[in-house]
Amino acid sequence: MKFINDFNLRKQAEELGVSVWQTPGFLSIIMGFVSVVIMTATYFVSKNYDNPQVLIASECLVVVVVLIIGTSISRFVWQMADLNRMKSEFVAVASHQLRTPLSAIRWEIELLLTKMKKGLDEKQVQKLENIAILSHRMTRLVNDLLDVARIDQNKLILRGQDFDLAKLAQEMLDEAISAYEDRHICVSLDIKKQLPTVVGDVDKIKLVLDNLISNAFKYTTSGGKIHISLFQKDKEIVFEIDDNGVGIPREQIDRVFEKFFRSDNAIKYQTEGTGLGLYISKNIIEQLGGHIWFQSIENVGSKFSFSLPVAKNSNKLI
Ligand code: ADP
Repeated sequence: MKFINDFNLRKQAEELGVSVWQTPGFLSIIMGFVSVVIMTATYFVSKNYDNPQVLIASECLVVVVVLIIGTSISRFVWQMADLNRMKSEFVAVASHQLRTPLSAIRWEIELLLTKMKKGLDEKQVQKLENIAILSHRMTRLVNDLLDVARIDQNKLILRGQDFDLAKLAQEMLDEAISAYEDRHICVSLDIKKQLPTVVGDVDKIKLVLDNLISNAFKYTTSGGKIHISLFQKDKEIVFEIDDNGVGIPREQIDRVFEKFFRSDNAIKYQTEGTGLGLYISKNIIEQLGGHIWFQSIENVGSKFSFSLPVAKNSNKLI
């Protein structure tokens, strides 16, 4: 049974969270082919020699060496893939377990700040507000880690709902404008009228919008400009957010959607950040059948865009 499982490549890939061609089973098959090719080549080369004992011995030696190398590589890949799977499982379990106490802490602080605020002096309220901000940040990090673990295990489950992307973008933008009020950034919005609905997972698209909008605010200097537009292009609705912020250095452009990536200039400008938002956003958008892309020039600005497919039954709003 184990032997059959070793060659069920699709199952292996799903279990280990790697693509089919990276599975140990695939590697074993390749090594098998290599062995056959080497044996055949040895046969043709050896035809020129007369002594059969020497020929058989040298052929056996070649086969044994190839098999030993192949098995060691395959075992090593198995171990690496297994460690990778265990790491993702650990992150998933740990972040899942952390969510419950974290939300309890958030509820308690909210209770203190609303129902019991009268009994607290100004300093105590300020301290509690700081704790509230920090616990929100921690919850976000834990949720991001959980999403990353699900993506790595191919277990990110997304719903397909019809919804109004323009309305959602407007809501998220309003939230960001009040959160970054003190930055005095000039925001403009251009939403084409009567856009059809899109299909996707509303909660996860909220996460993507929140990430792209908050990045634009985070990486734009005070007094800068942000422009958002939404329009239809063929069978997709495109969301674009343009800023005149710090931009991304040219030599780091290729790494922007990598897990934990933060550009050198962004780290100096904005110390807070995990480098997980864009990795998660890209995986969500692509899993929903959309696209995500960007243009950026250091010290000039960035434009991040994503598109989602128009819903087939496009008047069904949620
Ligand atoms: P985080 O913002 O938490 O660092 P993200 O995954 O959202 O993580 O972004 C990854 C990196 O991409 C950022 O650290 C920054 O270097 C760069 N980046 C993203 N959006 C912008 C933007 N609008 N302007 C400049 N750099 C950006």
